[in-house]
Amino acid sequence: MTTDVRDPYLAETEHVDPEIYGLIKEEEQYQIESVRLIPSENYTSRAVMEATGSVLANKYSEGYPGRRYYEGQRNVDQIETIVIERAKALFGMDHANVQPYSGSPANLAVYVALLEPGDTIMGLSLPHGGHLTHGWSASATSKFWKSVRYEVDEKTHLIDYDRVRAMAKAERPTIIVAGATAYPRQYDFAAFGEIAREVGAYFLADISHVSGLIVAGAHPDPAPYADVVMTTTHKTLRGPRGAMILCKAEHAEAIDKAVFPGLQGGPHENTIAGVGVALKEAATPAFRGYAQQIVANAKALAAELREGGFDLITGGTDNHLILIDLTGKKVFGKKYARALDRANIVANYNTIPFDPRKPFSPSGLRIGTPSVTTRGMKEDDMRQIARWMEQVADNVKDDAALDRIGAEVREFCRQFPAPGMHAV
Ligand SMILES: *Cc1c(COP(=O)(O)O)cnc(C)c1O
Repeated sequence: MTTDVRDPYLAETEHVDPEIYGLIKEEEQYQIESVRLIPSENYTSRAVMEATGSVLANKYSEGYPGRRYYEGQRNVDQIETIVIERAKALFGMDHANVQPYSGSPANLAVYVALLEPGDTIMGLSLPHGGHLTHGWSASATSKFWKSVRYEVDEKTHLIDYDRVRAMAKAERPTIIVAGATAYPRQYDFAAFGEIAREVGAYFLADISHVSGLIVAGAHPDPAPYADVVMTTTHKTLRGPRGAMILCKAEHAEAIDKAVFPGLQGGPHENTIAGVGVALKEAATPAFRGYAQQIVANAKALAAELREGGFDLITGGTDNHLILIDLTGKKVFGKKYARALDRANIVANYNTIPFDPRKPFSPSGLRIGTPSVTTRGMKEDDMRQIARWMEQVADNVKDDAALDRIGAEVREFCRQFPAPGMHAV
């Protein structure tokens, strides 16, 4: 379904490689015509895309500003310095390293910086919402270090800070990690910081999902309590795909050494420039309003889903994310996610805490509001989306019904311009 509209930014691609061009345009159309509810995704601005696709991709700049192993850094040094300064100001930390390629290598760099092999990482268990890199068994982080995992409460599905404290006292971890990919409530960073201090552990706040909310004041801030803060740049923060590590001055040298030369070679300065643009955008009053609306939208979506008979983990949300427990419905996560996609609503199946089913076909569905909020959708639109989600759940086997819903969703999406996109 390619469009007639010429995209000046892809004109050469169309000429040189029509096959890749065609698929990029298909994807663009798909992103325009679908309600995208994957909570880790977003739409970047055109400015972010331009900087990320710029001539900076041609550079090699191993090292740090003023201390490079390559000549030719007169512009690159200035760019990276600006981005570092913006990151420090926005997150309120002493030091920033903006070179990590993505969130997973950034977490690895934190461990390389602060831990000896065999030291203990204590993180939230993956099926309870934690990330692979918080010491899960399939992750290299559990091969080089010992890992112990805390879980959420069986009844409330909330983090029980008394149990986190008890585990920390028993296990004496070297580092405690807070942060998750599927936790619909706020983290008590002050409590994590206190527990870490009590047992002499470092405290890493992995705010990948919620960093956009934090800089906008829509979520508590870990900066006063954390030794290190890691965030991806492409989730609620709305930048290009990448990550950064922020830390106290005392850890700056170790963090920088771990990123380069410890784990990485040349930084992707084009991505770093795109991060810089995103940080400038994130420091505006408009972005504060955006982040507040993400949360307002998530609450409206959660309320309407509950009304429609869905069970929500923890009963609702106070961030950007909702985890639906489908065990009461007659459909499982995978099948439901597929049916939703057919109806142009994109979400992902997910395990729920204490999931009785297997990870490849779990009982949950994970959704979030960053992308739909970027397009300007508001509470009323969330209620409409929830009603479509109910209709899809009732018609998972009826392709004709799903296609009918899909046509309505496509029509609806046309009212909300997708930033940075040229197709119509
Ligand atoms: C997304 C995420 C990561 C990893 O980021 P990638 O860029 O996918 O490697 C790490 N931790 C948390 C909590 C995340 O949500």
